[in-house]
Amino acid sequence: VSSAPASVADEARAILARLGVPESAFASGGRPALSPITGEVIAHVRETTPEEAKAAIGRADAAFKAWRKVPAPKRGEFIRLLGEELRTAKDDLGRLVTLEAGKIVSEGLGEVQEMIDICDFAVGLSRQLYGLTIATERADHRMMETWHPLGVCGVISAFNFPVAVWSWNAALALVCGDSVVWKPSEKTLLTALATHAIVERAAKRFGGVPEGLCEVLLGGREIGEILVEDHRVPVLSATGSTAMGRQVGPKLAERFARAILELGGNNAAIVAPSADLDLALRGIAFAAMGTAGQRCTTLRRLFVHESVYDQLVPRLVKVYGSVKIGDPRAEGTLVGPLIDKAAFDNMERALDEARAAGGKVHGGGRYTDVANEGVYARPALVEMPSQTGPVMRETFAPILYVMRYSDFDDVIALHNAVGAGLSSSIFTLNLREAEAFVSVAGSDCGIANVNIGPSGAEIGGAFGGEKETGGGRESGSDAWKAYMRRATNTINYGSTLPLAQGVKFDV
Ligand code: NAD
Repeated sequence: VSSAPASVADEARAILARLGVPESAFASGGRPALSPITGEVIAHVRETTPEEAKAAIGRADAAFKAWRKVPAPKRGEFIRLLGEELRTAKDDLGRLVTLEAGKIVSEGLGEVQEMIDICDFAVGLSRQLYGLTIATERADHRMMETWHPLGVCGVISAFNFPVAVWSWNAALALVCGDSVVWKPSEKTLLTALATHAIVERAAKRFGGVPEGLCEVLLGGREIGEILVEDHRVPVLSATGSTAMGRQVGPKLAERFARAILELGGNNAAIVAPSADLDLALRGIAFAAMGTAGQRCTTLRRLFVHESVYDQLVPRLVKVYGSVKIGDPRAEGTLVGPLIDKAAFDNMERALDEARAAGGKVHGGGRYTDVANEGVYARPALVEMPSQTGPVMRETFAPILYVMRYSDFDDVIALHNAVGAGLSSSIFTLNLREAEAFVSVAGSDCGIANVNIGPSGAEIGGAFGGEKETGGGRESGSDAWKAYMRRATNTINYGSTLPLAQGVKFDV
């Protein structure tokens, strides 16, 4: 399949050593860290015990109390150093993302670039945590709002963006004055260990970072639950499936913690009669097959106008048949492995359901031209008679359901008729359609694009979605406000005490 090095494990271990992950992180009885490229075990990682998790949260709580007093621009200096360390480590960490999560090389590197970008953003932000000055109705008074750090910020992340999601949260939370406790996916422990080693290097260079400012809890769902239930964690960002959000959301609500939920997507694109079909074809191919269909923003539903359906869809079927599948380290590979066999089984189940609902499946099935235990799937394009059955839910695999439409208003209604509300796009050169799609009556998603696919966001905008995607926002715009608390202050610099709303209370 490729001329890539023989042992993924050897290469990964060499990277871990170069990045400074200590030997004590590993133990023979620990959780196996697998590579989806070959299915081999890279290392056994020592898991965090419940007692250790609680102690780590305690350290983070104490660290917060010191860190909140460090001036925000100084906190920004720590993140500037982290960005520098990430630049130095980019090749190694990006490669480790490829080895552990199975992303193609440019996507592994892109994920680390995203970490660097959010650090740059956060450094600037550290001098811009602005509040307002507000007009007051009372004479000789001033009213303003101030933003204060909130406390320990918990971060639970998914396997498919093993390091970038942590950085979207941590870079902002840290400049905002919070401490961070991270529970990475149990499927990507090595990239988490590597990231933590990089953070420690930045902390050492900064000097004076309180112990416990950045903690990592390694383990499965049980360890995540400790973070969710701990009263010392006032804000928690949880990225993963909608099923996970359904468990985590109510627990956070019960103790009035702030929830930043970044859950599943069932993202769609519309190809309108005027679309530039060459551009649409490329946009669709990347959004639907990139990352082997394992992005929260992956394109899963495609509505094609009946007037262009027979021009576009046969071309797409051809692209599906010729896309290069295989070892993500190899030059030219576009579709790497699925994370595990369970992901492939889910894909098969969804395709069976689609067939039963009258779908015509192109592609799909296991790609077996690999000499190892990695699980590779052929991306599937499924022509569906209507939006039904498996089309209504997210299957975290490369399946694209394609449907015809004839009326613009109808297709907008179909577009919005699923549970998730993450990302969306329209391919059109018609100004009215483009504007209608991004208008109040158009796409109901947190991300709505024109003439690009739904995936591949950049950090300057707020990232997240509505409905069953959870409603959280991370990364750019004013997402930082979720990591701080707002206080409204009224200051009387006069010698009388006028009450608001004309209330009289003379004693
Ligand atoms: P998952 O839901 O299986 O796991 C995500 C994380 O949640 C893991 O760290 C897991 O250990 C933890 N977890 C699960 N149940 C928990 C519980 N009850 N309490 C505490 N922690 C718990 O998701 P996954 O398979 O790793 O990732 C794929 C999913 O993530 C897809 O649905 C994808 O759309 C979604 N995702 C969403 C975004 C986004 O920003 N909206 C980004 C990436 C991935």
